[in-house]
Amino acid sequence: MLEIRNLKCYYGRIRALSGVSLSVDQGEVVSLIGANGSGKSTLLTAISGLLPGWRGELLFEGESLAGLPPQEVVARGISMVPEGRLIFGALSVMDNLRLGAYLRIRKRDHFGVRQDLDKVLSIFPVLKERAGQDAGTLSGGEQQMLAIGRALMAKPRLLLLDEPSMGLAPKVVKQIFSTLSMLRDEGLTILVVEQNAQAALAVADRGYVLETGRMVLTGRAADLLEDEEVKRAYLGKDYAQFTEGRA
Ligand code: ATP
Repeated sequence: MLEIRNLKCYYGRIRALSGVSLSVDQGEVVSLIGANGSGKSTLLTAISGLLPGWRGELLFEGESLAGLPPQEVVARGISMVPEGRLIFGALSVMDNLRLGAYLRIRKRDHFGVRQDLDKVLSIFPVLKERAGQDAGTLSGGEQQMLAIGRALMAKPRLLLLDEPSMGLAPKVVKQIFSTLSMLRDEGLTILVVEQNAQAALAVADRGYVLETGRMVLTGRAADLLEDEEVKRAYLGKDYAQFTEGRA
């Protein structure tokens, strides 16, 4: 479904990605893990059309995403939940959700939008309770749910998530990732970027490990969770967090 070949991304003269390849098949959850600054967000930003000037190949359903502006990428069926949520704090929860569907509202798909709104509110009942509340007053976990709900309102076939666990308590992280599992079971394809390797690999079919702009490892998520190098570099802190969450 998504095929990335030899992707190179630049910020001015700085090369943030040095020839990265990655694929996501229809119906899969794929996790991309890596430390701070390894280039994870850069990869998602390039897919989303927010970082022009990359080189290599970015194909979605066999067609190149080269030169497409972000709204066209969304129209093709790719939505992103950005790092730090980036919800509109002064707007209500409901207005944030509607904004996610703006392209569909423009096309007068009012019935479809209504249906998906009901669906999002049933996935995240707390958003229904807070529908009229300013989004900026939600808790971190609720804001993450809102950001996911807003992305779903565009009716994507591929959902990209940039560090959905960031700053959240272990219990909320579990809830977010079990929602991703549920969405995958319903047929959504997901690419999630994370520093929390344990949470991200636990729900994934396959994983990739990025280090300073290069892909250093890939494989089945279950195998990566057992990989000594991955355990040493990425799982120490997360295991502790998870044990704490279970207490
Ligand atoms: P984090 O987990 O901290 O978000 P990341 O893996 O998502 O990190 P990126 O944000 O993609 O990493 O950054 C990759 C590299 O590109 C880093 O060295 C970073 O300093 C650099 N970089 C990112 N954004 C810019 C920018 N706007 N201008 C210049 N350099 C940037």
